Amino acid sequence: MRSELGTTVITNGRLFDGTGAAPLADAAIVVTDGVIAFVGPAATMPPPAPSAKRIDAAGGTIMPGLIEAHFHPTYFDVAALEDLDIKYPVEYVTLLAAANARLALECGYTAARSGGSLFNIDVWLKKAIENDITPGPRLVASGREICGVGGLMDWNPDFRRIGMEGLVLLVNGPDEARAAVRKLVKDGVEWVKTYPTGDAAAPDVNDHHTLCMTFDEMRAVVATAHNHGLKVTGHCRATEGITNALKAGYDAIEHGTFIDDEGLDLLLARDVPCVPALYFEKVSVERGKEFGLSQRVIDGHQETLDGGAESARRILRTGGRLGMGGDYGFAWNPHGDYAKELEFFVDFVGLSPLEVLSCATKTGAEIMGRGHDLGTLQVGKIADVLVVAGDPTAEIGILQDRTRFLAVIQGGVVKAGRMAAPAG
Ligand SMILES: [Zn+2]
Repeated sequence: MRSELGTTVITNGRLFDGTGAAPLADAAIVVTDGVIAFVGPAATMPPPAPSAKRIDAAGGTIMPGLIEAHFHPTYFDVAALEDLDIKYPVEYVTLLAAANARLALECGYTAARSGGSLFNIDVWLKKAIENDITPGPRLVASGREICGVGGLMDWNPDFRRIGMEGLVLLVNGPDEARAAVRKLVKDGVEWVKTYPTGDAAAPDVNDHHTLCMTFDEMRAVVATAHNHGLKVTGHCRATEGITNALKAGYDAIEHGTFIDDEGLDLLLARDVPCVPALYFEKVSVERGKEFGLSQRVIDGHQETLDGGAESARRILRTGGRLGMGGDYGFAWNPHGDYAKELEFFVDFVGLSPLEVLSCATKTGAEIMGRGHDLGTLQVGKIADVLVVAGDPTAEIGILQDRTRFLAVIQGGVVKAGRMAAPAG
């Protein structure tokens, strides 16, 4: 991705740097060739060259770009789960995914980890973004997901003679699990996304208390993935699915909904991050009827919401790490709403805005494996920066309002927000 050459100075704003430090009034940032060269009180900033570009934060806030830790670029705001795999051909879904990536960037998300994608679209979308062919968050790709035969993602009945190979690789036993990971190695993914458990959203028997992979399959996934330098995560609702994933050596847990004491101990022992992706449950309860969800499914989402909120609180309060991300890409939880997750974690789950912002920046970068160069505003890191009118550390909800972004910056380049050059 292209960086802004030369020097840019951002002044006249309060700093939230993502490191855990208290916000700093009247701060300044100096960016040289896309990398942060100075960050701190404006009074101690070395005098910039006269040729330096200037960005006036206008009394607003200077903060790290947001990171979506569970991004489904190919979910195109579907009204039914089944639409995810065969409603449109891959050519059209690729274009939709590019539009979703552009939207995420415009919403202040300068980086994202994929939570799974139709075919291998996210791997190539990542390449297109890196090569400045299309705008979007810096991506970490997952490609197709892995699920046991008959599990949550295996919804096309056999009589239709339609496979699921666009969306998931279905496995029976450790040998097939290994083969699936090897396919993904060739595809070029960085995270392997699996389905240890079902979900309240299941149209059939695979609800949130059901297991969808065996421990042996999960262990085979981890051994093969780690051998090739890939990381493994999984959709984990049911208690036993969470402990299975942690015992099998998973590198992250998605949802972690019904974690028990054993699971929490295992999670904390290896400092495994969890991405609750929980706002989806609230909006599914609130708007499910409107979209034809059955009462059984809505009740399941309510149980998931309550269990997930309790688990997320416990994980953070006992010293664990949470990433912020969600299953955006459903009609009732569309792309563009990503920052609703943040306000929800303050209002519903009870975290402080500063905690949530750290989860959405620093921890997100760590989950991506980019903690060394993204996620906080520190000297030597890539200048992925938001300049926001107002104070999200006091009023986190303003991050949902795209008109509040003065600048969405990647590598020192203003990509979106009021200061961005109009698209030609
Ligand atoms: Zn997901």
